[in-house]
Amino acid sequence: MDIHEYQAKEILSNFGVAVPDGSLAYSPEQAAYRARELGGERWVVKAQVHAGGRGKAGGVKLCNSDIEIQDVSENLFGKKLVTHQTGPEGQGIYRVYVEACVPIERELYLGFVLDRTSQRVMIVASANGGMEIEEISANSPDSLVRATVEPAVGLRAFQCRQIAFKLGFEPGMVQQVVRTLQGCYRAFTELDATMVEVNPLVVTTDNRLIALDAKMTFDDNALFRHPQISELRDKSQEDPRESRAADRGLNYVGLTGNIGCIVNGAGLAMATMDTIKLAGGEPANFLDIGGGATPERVAKAFRLVLSDDNVQAILVNIFAGINRCDWVAEGVVQALKEVETDIPVVVRLAGTNVEAGQKILSQSGLPIIRAGTLNEAAERAVTAWRNDQSQATILRSTS
Ligand code: ADP
Ligand code: MG
Repeated sequence: MDIHEYQAKEILSNFGVAVPDGSLAYSPEQAAYRARELGGERWVVKAQVHAGGRGKAGGVKLCNSDIEIQDVSENLFGKKLVTHQTGPEGQGIYRVYVEACVPIERELYLGFVLDRTSQRVMIVASANGGMEIEEISANSPDSLVRATVEPAVGLRAFQCRQIAFKLGFEPGMVQQVVRTLQGCYRAFTELDATMVEVNPLVVTTDNRLIALDAKMTFDDNALFRHPQISELRDKSQEDPRESRAADRGLNYVGLTGNIGCIVNGAGLAMATMDTIKLAGGEPANFLDIGGGATPERVAKAFRLVLSDDNVQAILVNIFAGINRCDWVAEGVVQALKEVETDIPVVVRLAGTNVEAGQKILSQSGLPIIRAGTLNEAAERAVTAWRNDQSQATILRSTS
């Protein structure tokens, strides 16, 4: 789960990381009011969306008066901000953060990620901040400083000092670097984050080290341990299909194709998507309904997949070990009776209670296409989708 910049800054500041003074606003009037409250003469208005690259896309604006803040905010609120991280449809702006303008001397990059190879939290830093990490690693890979943290002992001060010297800090600044790195590391581990990124981390003209931007991503599977983090979820920033899935406890990732997939098990779901592609189709989603899925859960999954307007055929692929084919079949029938769709549905069942499952499907009287193997299922789903397409074209050309 992603959170907003202002939320990440509040968290990091609770762990001792210095951040600029700032305040959140839900309207242009409130933004101007926030600036007056903060005081000072120059502010930065920052669109709060779950994506980076806002500066270049016009989502971060320097303002010299509260009137200017109101004008700038009026142009941001309700708009979609398109950055290189959002995709062409952009992300809606419903909150802006008004922040004191910080006098920047230099910008650095700081990131904490999980490194699968070393199975450790890895710190990645660069003295060349202010651009994305991808650009840094392409343009100046030698500037990157990397260090892994030994989990049994945590991030030690000597390691932070080493990083500080590699980044070219003066001895007088090193203590601030240690505090910042340790604060980010503690926030990362104690809150089950999967990423903390401070880009840029800046040195001000009066030698303060400040996190000018902050991004945090959390492990969804650990959110139950951190209700205060789950609270920060902002559905306006999520793919609506994925929010609906999360609300229903389903493991779903939205994709851009048109063959909806309902599968049990993540590995089988991946294999199903591959097979659809091999058969010449494009999957509309990844969906793992999990083991022991009740008919109600299968029906929920069905409604979710059907709520995606791009879906033009559905492939149900169940290999029942813990699952029961009869329950899955009941779920499919229940959902299809409820939603009354004319989208072709292909079902492939194998494993526990498969005969009972097939019987439920055939006795339902519904036009369900059945398949014995995964290959057959994928081919039938792609063929059914193509036939549907050509029928639609014929209908369009004759009407
Ligand atoms: P993004 O990464 O989404 O583009 P940032 O928060 O990194 O957004 O802001 C982009 C740039 O705007 C920063 O690199 C910095 O130069 C400038 N900036 C952001 N916040 C401030 C601030 N409070 N004071 C001065 N400059 C800022
Ligand atoms: Mg940034």
